[in-house]
Amino acid sequence: MVLERSRPPRPVSPAPTAQDTSSVDTSLRPKTLAEYVGQSKVKGHLLMHIQAAKARKEPLGHTLLYGPPGLGKTTLAQILAREMGSQIRVTSGPALEKPGDLASLLTNLQEGDVFFIDEIHRLRPVVEEMLYAAMEDYALDLVIGKGPTARSMRLRLKPFTLIGATTKVGGVSAPLRDRFLQQFKLQFYEPAEMQQIVERSARLLSVDLGGRAAHRLARSSRFTPRIANRLLRSVRDFSQVRGSTTIDEAAVDDMLHALDIDADGLDGVDRAILQTIIDTFGGGPVGLSTIAAVLADEEETIEDVYEPYLLQQGYLQRTPKGRMATKRAYEKMGREMPAGAQATLFGS
Ligand code: ADP
Repeated sequence: MVLERSRPPRPVSPAPTAQDTSSVDTSLRPKTLAEYVGQSKVKGHLLMHIQAAKARKEPLGHTLLYGPPGLGKTTLAQILAREMGSQIRVTSGPALEKPGDLASLLTNLQEGDVFFIDEIHRLRPVVEEMLYAAMEDYALDLVIGKGPTARSMRLRLKPFTLIGATTKVGGVSAPLRDRFLQQFKLQFYEPAEMQQIVERSARLLSVDLGGRAAHRLARSSRFTPRIANRLLRSVRDFSQVRGSTTIDEAAVDDMLHALDIDADGLDGVDRAILQTIIDTFGGGPVGLSTIAAVLADEEETIEDVYEPYLLQQGYLQRTPKGRMATKRAYEKMGREMPAGAQATLFGS
């Protein structure tokens, strides 16, 4: 008998849950570039492109946004549409199953609309090919009929802006990537920016959050706004149940403890990854598929959801032979790093 494994949603997973797309979260989304905290380089470039496009009375050039989940790609696309004074139509790579699905969305676009495709690296090749002419010539090449009587027809589209978002820019094919005028990578946020995001969300939710509590929450949120907002909602519920109106550092600590999240934002699964590499594979190198098999998790989930933060924080290193635990990982897990392991890590 095959047992279905069902895992509770991880509080520190940057992937969106149903709650994250609820009206509460929508109310937390910044609506203008000025409200959008951090990512100053990207914002600076975009502001310049918006002004230029508006002056020419043309749509903004096609834009690709990439980076780990929960950093604000969808939010930025919505802001761009608003700043351009246009409507946004939202879809995702996996939702566009057939070329017809894409065709019906494209033909319904109004002039200057923003067409947002999330997870654009997951477009099916037949759908992607149809997108090329749409992006380049604002045209749709349709084949009507079948066999020898089939003929092709070109349909004109209204000029629009495609904004693609992906967590895996390496998974976007070169022909598609080349058709974007600009590509921006969203970075993990700085600690001070995270604190600003937590304090802004607390204000919007009318939560009385002390400065030290905000600092603690910001530090435990993997430098990811979606997680910060989720932890803030959790601690608000914790405090409400306890009948306290102010959230202090102790309340945040209790909530983090209950959710098995440590002060650096690592949860049980992150620690299991580090522990597996250190204890089972002598610190690595070990392939992603092996780690996934040992943890009974999916390779893609480990690569897209867990790993980016572990790499960014210097717990893991990617080498051509596989993943290796760093000195920081050994320290985190309270293990002594063998002398030879350090040499392998730096390729000597
Ligand atoms: P992504 O599309 O990259 O997965 P989202 O745009 O859905 O991420 O962002 C997740 C949530 O995080 C949003 O609902 C928003 O409330 C918050 N958020 C994202 N970026 C910012 C930011 N720069 N400033 C404030 N809040 C942000």
